[in-house]
Amino acid sequence: MDKTIKFYSKRPASGSEDVIKHNKELANSGWRTTQDQDQFLMNETKLPWHKDRLLAWTKDKNNASLVPLHIDMGIATGCNLACHFCYGVVQARTGFQGTQGAMEFMPLDTIINTFRDAKEIGVKSIALIGEGENTLNPNLYPALNYAKSIDLDVSLATHGASIRNTHYQTLLDSLSWLRINISAATPESYKNVHQRPWFDKVINNTVGLLNYRDKNDIRLNNGEKCTIGYQMVLTHRNFADIISLSALAVELGLDYLVIKACSDTPEGSLDAPSHEYLELKEEFSIAESLSTERTKIIVRWEKLGNLGNKSYKTCYGTRFIIAISGNGNVFPCGHWFNIEKDRFLMGNVNMTSFKDLVKSQTYINSQQEILRLDLRSCESNCRQHQVNSFLDQINQIDNPMEFVDKLLESSPPKHLNFI
Ligand code: SF4
Repeated sequence: MDKTIKFYSKRPASGSEDVIKHNKELANSGWRTTQDQDQFLMNETKLPWHKDRLLAWTKDKNNASLVPLHIDMGIATGCNLACHFCYGVVQARTGFQGTQGAMEFMPLDTIINTFRDAKEIGVKSIALIGEGENTLNPNLYPALNYAKSIDLDVSLATHGASIRNTHYQTLLDSLSWLRINISAATPESYKNVHQRPWFDKVINNTVGLLNYRDKNDIRLNNGEKCTIGYQMVLTHRNFADIISLSALAVELGLDYLVIKACSDTPEGSLDAPSHEYLELKEEFSIAESLSTERTKIIVRWEKLGNLGNKSYKTCYGTRFIIAISGNGNVFPCGHWFNIEKDRFLMGNVNMTSFKDLVKSQTYINSQQEILRLDLRSCESNCRQHQVNSFLDQINQIDNPMEFVDKLLESSPPKHLNFI
């Protein structure tokens, strides 16, 4: 039973008939104009390709001591932008543009120790995606060099405005992918959405990174090139940018642009336009059709169409993906960084080694608490959403591994470890 006292959202119960009915009707209405999968499988999860972990979960769903496959890790607690859809800004966390207090940077030895421990115990990938802007922490670059030296699969999400060209080499030869968050196609719109006049800085760094990578043929340890993409978060302020930003991504020669729904708080504080997305099918379709051999425009149809509701009743996704805040706190997911810490805080990597932390009773207790949640107290379309949907799907069939084997007959997607 969920112990959360204050009651949250007006959303229908997760896994309720209403939610399932809506999703079915939408699928039957031809909402998704193409069934083609992108090479990164952004509308699905790559969990089936980690069959051993999946098998361990199917054998004992209550086993809270599974080693996670992936970590979303922040190394800075604040940001120098103030995107109007940002959770950090809406929760007035310290260290964000327009809020009080200084941001914290994770020390280099903590980052390195966490990378090493994670790799040694079987974590497959770490995305430097946190509550803040990780490129502001100067420790990022030596940490990436270390990740490369131990062959750890790492990636970075950034606003892309604070990168210096002296850092291109380190970024491009260590990151499996680098994603720039830009949700506007013009300087005016950028200022309206991201609240600083930095459109040109972002474009300059995009061009700089692409040119540097391709002219110098920069490669990762595995011989692949770092994938460079844009991410657009769709809000009331940028419907008019969908097609123009897609055209810009193609013109710049990016590897992809992904268009995604705005994740909202349980109270709907970000006013995510979940119902309006359903009116934008034509724009999404045109945007997708602009894809070229080099640049894919990827629409996250399921998340854009689900009205922010969850079709599953239980969150098992945190068994596979967890989150670390820039201040070292470890949580089952980023949603709890600032809410109900007593209940969900698993420990802090500045004080406890990640190896010990994952084995601790606190870790297990926090994971068990997640299973008791009413998921209406969660953000909509969270990071674990697709993993949760998939686990719910296989939970309902008699021979899940047969189903998984069928999926594995298709060619493996790129960035397999980023589930
Ligand atoms: S926000 Fe809720 S559903 Fe999503 S990972 Fe966190 S606990 Fe699970």
